[in-house]
Amino acid sequence: MLTISPIAAFSDNYIWHLQRDEQDWVVDPGDAGPVLNALGERKLDGILITHHHWDHTGGIAELAAEYRCPVYGPGSVGGVTHPLAAGDHCEVLGFPVSVIDVPGHTLDHLALLLRENDGRVEQNHLFCGDTLFASGCGRLFEGTPAQMYNSLAKLSALPPETRVYCAHEYTLANLRFAAAAEPGNQAVHTRLAQVEALRASGKTTLPSTIGEELATNPFLRCHIPALARQAANHGAAENPDEVEVFAYLRRWKDNF
Ligand SMILES: [Zn+2]
Repeated sequence: MLTISPIAAFSDNYIWHLQRDEQDWVVDPGDAGPVLNALGERKLDGILITHHHWDHTGGIAELAAEYRCPVYGPGSVGGVTHPLAAGDHCEVLGFPVSVIDVPGHTLDHLALLLRENDGRVEQNHLFCGDTLFASGCGRLFEGTPAQMYNSLAKLSALPPETRVYCAHEYTLANLRFAAAAEPGNQAVHTRLAQVEALRASGKTTLPSTIGEELATNPFLRCHIPALARQAANHGAAENPDEVEVFAYLRRWKDNF
């Protein structure tokens, strides 16, 4: 059986810990210490990396030296032993993982889709780093709005039951923005109340699902007329296309 649990790191990062039988992998270990604590007597069998930012990669050297484990991720990242690119496939814990390139937050950003299928369970798990967040998306540090919009479109086309493992606990702030951007969306208000309760009791709000994101994530809803009107009312072109709506929302969120 596969279990996936968050290891908290820094102020709001999650390092996702995958366990099956006697094997352990982690995704985006920005810090080795919390991973070593979580593993205890167990050893690490492999590392997956989504992009080059330090809060996703800072623990690679120490963990790889300690456990001599393979590191799969973008070839641009120091310490990666198995470079991945769009369309590649690899195997993690006996399950196939497909690699989706999602430039925008950074140009080297990859999303990793693990297909759990052991005869009893069929479930997709998406590790999307800082590209897709619950009701939000990553900032554009390196890519253009059009690149990020296309990257998010690839993820939003995955089956709605796909579980989404984001790398930060940003859900509450994202939903407050979503409620401002699309005040008429009841699904946003319902989710906001649920997330406020989870955070008040110190619980994680993840994983999300693609279906929840399609309903509550303004960055996946740029085709919705209410969001296009928001953009047009706030300085975007008249009748903005979806990329222009996305660019407007991203700029607004940067200063929200
Ligand atoms: Zn990042």
